[in-house]
Amino acid sequence: KLHNDVVDLRGQIRVVVRVRPMLRSEVETSVSAIEYPTINSIIVNQGPKSSGAMTFEKVFTPIFTQSQVFCEIEDFILSALHGYNVGLIAFGQTGSGKTHTMRGGGGEDEGIIPRAASYLFSASKQLEATGWQFAFSLSFLEIYNNEAYDLLNNHNVVKLRLVKETVSLDGLSEHPLKKQSDMAVLLRTADANRKTASTKCNEYSSRSHAIYMWKIKAEQKSTGISTNSVLKLVDLAGSERAKESGVVGQQFKEMTNINQSLSVLQKCVSMQKSKSSHVPYRDSKLTQVLMDCLGRGNSKTMVMVNITPCEEQATESKRSIEFAAKMR
Ligand code: ADP
Ligand code: MG
Repeated sequence: KLHNDVVDLRGQIRVVVRVRPMLRSEVETSVSAIEYPTINSIIVNQGPKSSGAMTFEKVFTPIFTQSQVFCEIEDFILSALHGYNVGLIAFGQTGSGKTHTMRGGGGEDEGIIPRAASYLFSASKQLEATGWQFAFSLSFLEIYNNEAYDLLNNHNVVKLRLVKETVSLDGLSEHPLKKQSDMAVLLRTADANRKTASTKCNEYSSRSHAIYMWKIKAEQKSTGISTNSVLKLVDLAGSERAKESGVVGQQFKEMTNINQSLSVLQKCVSMQKSKSSHVPYRDSKLTQVLMDCLGRGNSKTMVMVNITPCEEQATESKRSIEFAAKMR
């Protein structure tokens, strides 16, 4: 397991990489640009040029299944029940596997979000035997063009308001999660809301950041101790560069907003890591929403950088790996 100890590693930010397998359509036409020189390092080859080996907390090669990936991170997720604010952020170009990793498909293809739901439910049942009681509630939010929307209530606009060291999300609906199957219902609502938006704009979902927030209230009656924590699971907008030509108007604006928010995210993570006194959370809505899960105080953060193995995409893959390396 990546980190066995649930209560350790407070305030830590870890960066991991997942390389998806080649799709059936790619196997015939492409070759892999990725090498794995040691268990947790990676090289991206661009023709004769090579990135050099870069090491991460974990490298998930294409053979890792959804269940194996989850198994490595389940203790990290579990720390949310123990009172930590936990943020897991999927980064990468469009098509690199972020949504597959976070949301996934049905059955064995389920991603981290539905797996986290079943895992936290069964873990909370076990902890109840020790006198703890848990209350869960969910909010799903999307940031598109630097504007926040509620994914569980008609795509309503959500206003961000900074109050001292936290952000308040005015107008965001909260949904109690009483049993595990409630999760499936809420995920379907969110999917439908994202889908409606995508008919209005091509490739909408790869241009928006989706943030799945899980609030946890834990209480131990005998001692009167209670904690409030939150788990934020994030499927970021595609990190690809706008093509030099052809991107104008609305698309240009979208790209600029995405690049800006991702670069603020990178800055916040690396400055937090180096214990800088002024971390620029306020510089984007994305980092405002994620502020309490980005390595401050009792929070834990994991950035999962997704890349494709394909030679044609080696330039973007190398950029993603470099982005990741800067946060280490
Ligand atoms: P993104 O959300 O980053 O744009 P997707 O998650 O939509 O990328 O993935 C792009 C394609 O690759 C999809 O068809 C998806 O099913 C497939 N894919 C991604 N990761 C994997 C994986 N680990 N195993 C099998 N197929 C994958
Ligand atoms: Mg996606």
